[in-house]
Amino acid sequence: MDIRDDRSNFSDILAAALTAADEFLERLEERPAALRPPPTEAMNLPEDGLGGQQAIEVFRQRFEAGLSASSGPRYLGFVTGGSTPAALAGDWLAAAYDQNLSNDGDSIATTVERETIGLLRSLFGLDNSFEGVFVSGATQANVVALATARQWAADRLGVDVAADGLWRLPPIPVLGGTPHASILKAVSILGMGRGCVEHVPCLPDRQAVDPQALAERLAALDGAPAIVSASAGEVNTGDFDDLVELSELCRHHGAWLHVDGAFGLFAACDPEKAELLRGLNAADSIATDGHKWLNVPYDSGIVFTRHLEHQESVFKAVAAYLGAGPDLLHRTPENSRRFRALPAWMTLMAYGRSGYRELVSRCCRLARRLGDGIATSEHYELLAPVHLDIVCFALRKGDVERRDRVIYRLLDDGRVYLTPTVFDGRPGLRAAFVNWRTGEEDIPVILEALADAAV
Ligand SMILES: *Cc1c(COP(=O)(O)O)cnc(C)c1O
Repeated sequence: MDIRDDRSNFSDILAAALTAADEFLERLEERPAALRPPPTEAMNLPEDGLGGQQAIEVFRQRFEAGLSASSGPRYLGFVTGGSTPAALAGDWLAAAYDQNLSNDGDSIATTVERETIGLLRSLFGLDNSFEGVFVSGATQANVVALATARQWAADRLGVDVAADGLWRLPPIPVLGGTPHASILKAVSILGMGRGCVEHVPCLPDRQAVDPQALAERLAALDGAPAIVSASAGEVNTGDFDDLVELSELCRHHGAWLHVDGAFGLFAACDPEKAELLRGLNAADSIATDGHKWLNVPYDSGIVFTRHLEHQESVFKAVAAYLGAGPDLLHRTPENSRRFRALPAWMTLMAYGRSGYRELVSRCCRLARRLGDGIATSEHYELLAPVHLDIVCFALRKGDVERRDRVIYRLLDDGRVYLTPTVFDGRPGLRAAFVNWRTGEEDIPVILEALADAAV
């Protein structure tokens, strides 16, 4: 089919997509939280296309049954948000509008991105000195932040890494108690090497760095530049580094403070949890996710830094046809950029500060409820206290194989999806609550599924 011939079918194609989405979302809560995909045979590229409507039909017939309810209420693996109604609408419109967000000056879309960054700063209680920009997720946000930190650290040693590379530099240490796997991925991408990440001891029975141990390590560097990577929401347990202590240490020793707050930054929305983020405004850079607790569709992340000059040194794209102004393409790895801000703008406008306060406090309450249920269960016990929205637990008795059997049984059962972890050498499971659909009614379902999977 000639592509232009499909133009007259546009409304019908969008209506078919709306029907598909409506039917999917209508039954989302009955769909298996996760499933093992059935084997399928790959189709060949058609010589003559099917047209948009038929393509939707074929997709639905072949694949729809194999989609999980990962945006539903009981997919508690990893840290997985869903899409609020307004965010989903915003994402559809982002595709329909299909704006180019590289450069200012040819559309209002970059203005919307800047406005959205302002809304997020306000949601998180961040100072206006933080510049922010949308990227694809917290991993990419960590890459941008650490690349900027690397540029700063090398600058202090008299080297412009963006121009000359790392070749003449000693290793720049990245210090943290519980750096997320994406921090290691980031330093690998950045040519600093995974070996530059030093795990500093944590406080007893905590997943938060021991400030005393960090102080000693920083003192031993004797003024050499270092990057401290703090966790605001450790991924296994939701524990938080003490940002007041860490920021004071960084100031004293002249180190860069990066905060990975992929989901934990949303503690700022709940007055009962906001305390966990005290000291945040002294950070040099912050990474967070849109597709977790903000509940916008994949993929969406945000990076904040207070060092635009170093950031732009790394990411500027120089070419005669690209502007040299303050365009957003000079702040991120991407040159071409999606209108990612729109779903975030929509959901923030639609539900406001109080909507997110309710969501965050509800998720934390649900995590506590599940934690209480685990603590009194016959088969399971908690591995760590519930600090925020994550429940980390294990079978009271049993090895890795038994734990894996529980995971597979849950997968086949479909009521709830959980992902494994290892905590203090013990094979465990985690449940992370960030989805706007999850409610009190889900807790007994989860506990029952867990009890059934244990026997
Ligand atoms: C999820 C997560 C990341 C990585 O985020 P992506 O969105 O998967 O790129 C980084 N840090 C923490 C603490 C996370 O929970």
